[in-house]
Amino acid sequence: MGLLTEGSPLSWEETKKLSDHVRKHGVIQFINLYKRLRDRQGDVLKWGDEVEYILVKFDDEKKTAKVSLRAPEILTPLNEKEHKDPTGVKSLWRPEYGAYMIEGTPGKPYGGLLAHFNVVEANMRYRRQEVMNELKPGEAVMSLTSFPRLGCPDFTDPPSQPTPSSGASRSLFFPDEAIFPGHPRFKTLTRNIRQRRGEKVAINLPIFRDENVPEPFREDLKALGDDGSSQSAAKDNHVYMDAMGFGMGCCCLQLTFQACNIEEARTLYDQLAPLCPIMLALTAASPIHRGYLTDVDCRWNVISCSVDCRTQEERGLEPLKENKFRINKSRYDSIDSYLSNQGGKYNDVPLTYDDDIYKQLMENGIDRLLAQHVAHLFIRDSVSLFSEKVHQNDEEDTDHFENIQSTNWQTMRFKPPPPNSSIGWRVEFRPCEVQITDFENAAIVCFIVLLSRVILSYNLNLLIPISKVDENMAKAQKRDAVRTEKFWFRKDITSEAKDDQKVEDEYTEFTVNEIINGKEGVFVGLIALVNSYLASMNVDADTHCTVQRYLKLIQRRASGELLTTAAWLRRQVESHPEYMKDAVVTPRINYDLLKRVYEIQTNEKPCPELLGPCTTSRTTEKIPAAIAKAEKC
Ligand code: ADP
Ligand code: MG
Ligand code: MG
Ligand code: MG
Ligand code: MG
Repeated sequence: MGLLTEGSPLSWEETKKLSDHVRKHGVIQFINLYKRLRDRQGDVLKWGDEVEYILVKFDDEKKTAKVSLRAPEILTPLNEKEHKDPTGVKSLWRPEYGAYMIEGTPGKPYGGLLAHFNVVEANMRYRRQEVMNELKPGEAVMSLTSFPRLGCPDFTDPPSQPTPSSGASRSLFFPDEAIFPGHPRFKTLTRNIRQRRGEKVAINLPIFRDENVPEPFREDLKALGDDGSSQSAAKDNHVYMDAMGFGMGCCCLQLTFQACNIEEARTLYDQLAPLCPIMLALTAASPIHRGYLTDVDCRWNVISCSVDCRTQEERGLEPLKENKFRINKSRYDSIDSYLSNQGGKYNDVPLTYDDDIYKQLMENGIDRLLAQHVAHLFIRDSVSLFSEKVHQNDEEDTDHFENIQSTNWQTMRFKPPPPNSSIGWRVEFRPCEVQITDFENAAIVCFIVLLSRVILSYNLNLLIPISKVDENMAKAQKRDAVRTEKFWFRKDITSEAKDDQKVEDEYTEFTVNEIINGKEGVFVGLIALVNSYLASMNVDADTHCTVQRYLKLIQRRASGELLTTAAWLRRQVESHPEYMKDAVVTPRINYDLLKRVYEIQTNEKPCPELLGPCTTSRTTEKIPAAIAKAEKC
């Protein structure tokens, strides 16, 4: 989120009554925005990352690690700096869902120079240090996708208690105190999603079936205050979770790109979409949830279920009466359609949308692909509405459009220019899990930005049917997917599709290793394309060296020579002397694990199995003027 809109949230009943109002005006606002901005040209490449962090509180005597609920306090001085010098600060800080979370972005987006790749990591380090300066003794800031014992007894500092029969979440495990308190948006979303759904959200992750896991694995939820609804939602042999916080309380790594015009944005949106599951598998970093090792490596489905506001009717469990549509996916999920002309023929999943909205968009000059995309976003109700924002000027405001857009949390987001700004059409790449070190996060960011350049410069075509991308999303989350799964991927990404070729002949299954590193005589590999692009450019020596270290990390993760973060975390648990082969991550295992993570992120001790032999890069905070100048020539 950019700046979160302030105000007084309406109750769910009031919000529900206004849902057609929000939809109606949101669509009109999009139409007006489109008419104003469709021909906007000449924006240059800009891009920026978003890293989410958790705050951890260690107790070295008791040997515990908890989440520290001090995010609001820590944000205050960070935001003050921005307030004093909005265009000069090197970082921007925003609240996130958890009272133990914060999100940091660079102060300004980066530009098109290759030398910018050399400042990404330094900026990430700067951000981490900036937060560290605000911490109390025993606290740490960590870029960890999921806190291993989130939702376990006594997991917060200060202590807080879940309230199963009152409050926003009504969770057996996740207290409302762990939701960011400073802004009403987060609690309102939590409450409204639960109320819209008609029951608590339910997340069931298969438990990691180690030797001593009971068969069946089933927990006594009554003892936690369950009225029976949780017990019936919880599946045997699964780790059950019942609150938005389990998903939205995870951290991720996101990237936004500005395109030169709307067409280029549509191309990037489409071409990056098939990479989402591949990058999810490669960045997998969350095998532990609510104190258990699970059989999945990623957060994606957890978040998806954690904000699944669909009613039983919409989920197909009951005949449609109150609701209008059967809806296949949660509002947090992978994209359902491509947007570029080239993508049209790969849209093989039937799209749910309101015909009237679709027609209205078409009648206003919006083409079929974009109209169906927007109409599909607008099958959702608003789940957070503020009284100050109900009545708007549709010629200028876009809040109703943004209301629906910003609560469609998908793998890719197509972002129109904000009103009255110098910002152009953008796309956001959203699947990646965040890694422990700035080095790794910088490597992922630079790799994806480079890929976006390669896609546009070489006119690559990575498209496969949307249904295959969906299949890949499911595979990507499985335990050790990088080493064991095969993913649908386009066979030939460098030449144009032949007209007479059947779509089914255009793709086949590859391992992540083959996709990244290539397969002799069969597939060129993404790294080779990036390298050939770099060879054609004028790169200064330091940037070249930094980028090569990043690409090496990606290559080694893909080949299995290095562990994914998820695989590494599993190993730490499995090799811990207190681990009983029962999938349980005890408070002591959690403490030792997070201490080890801390040593790695601060470079106190090496971790070659995760990072490889060389983890220093020549990253600098500023691009030397001479290099910037030389590159522009
Ligand atoms: P959201 O949470 O809605 O995705 P944020 O404002 O948190 O948005 O993050 C947006 C990212 O986009 C940041 O990394 C920022 O640096 C970057 N960014 C800002 N302006 C532009 C722009 N004009 N083009 C591309 N990226 C931009
Ligand atoms: Mg953000
Ligand atoms: Mg956001
Ligand atoms: Mg965020
Ligand atoms: Mg974002």
